[in-house]
Amino acid sequence: MTAIIEAHDVHKHFGSFHALRGVNLTVQPGEVVVIIGPSGSGKSTFIRTLNALDPHDAGSITVDGIPLNGKGNLDAIRREVGMVFQSFNLFPHLTVLENITLAPIRVRKASRADAEKRGLELLRRVGIEEQAGKYPAQLSGGQQQRVAIARALAMEPKVMLFDEPTSALDPEMIKEVLDVMKELARSGMTMLVVTHEMGFAREVADRILFFDGGNIVEDTTPENFYQNPQHERARTFLSKIL
Ligand code: ADP
Ligand code: MG
Repeated sequence: MTAIIEAHDVHKHFGSFHALRGVNLTVQPGEVVVIIGPSGSGKSTFIRTLNALDPHDAGSITVDGIPLNGKGNLDAIRREVGMVFQSFNLFPHLTVLENITLAPIRVRKASRADAEKRGLELLRRVGIEEQAGKYPAQLSGGQQQRVAIARALAMEPKVMLFDEPTSALDPEMIKEVLDVMKELARSGMTMLVVTHEMGFAREVADRILFFDGGNIVEDTTPENFYQNPQHERARTFLSKIL
């Protein structure tokens, strides 16, 4: 099988701060990878390098055979990789449906009719078809995050990246977003998910990556990770969140 993500010896500095210190990762199509680790360990920085939101300084990253080298292939990468953030980042002045159809019309040159048809299908998939004509501010946080997922899916990405997608949500809304993500995982989507939702990780993750100090210090199955974390920092971390 050909890997969909290949990261080799990836480094990233912010000024003099060395945020990523030689990260290596290979992800196969359809894998669901959960990323955990202490605050400041480089989780967000790493997944942002995977769709070139932040360029890396050294090492190589290839997504679906496309090298991320900062040379004109940004559009291609952004089409391959969908991203969902903690803070939904919807366009406030556009309706839910317009949020979803904008990129397919502008970037993929879809017709408005096709983009809307597909947009409504995606809203049905995330369970909020009836909200299509509303503005983001009229929706709950959980509904906004489901719109953000639908918006990312509208570009038909091969990989979906999630950076703490439920961290800004009230507890009663977390499940509705995780349920959408579980369905997506079961549909075969390749997913990298930064989250501390351990129930989600146990249920759907194929692998757990534990970040510490700008690198992956454990890369194992959920069973192994929870029962027998190898790394002292992982043990301490688990004892705090479980
Ligand atoms: P995590 O997501 O694991 O909490 P981040 O990847 O956001 O960690 O950050 C890793 C480190 O890099 C932190 O020390 C953070 O302060 C630093 N960092 C992240 N983004 C920037 C930036 N744009 N400028 C300067 N430092 C940054
Ligand atoms: Mg982060």
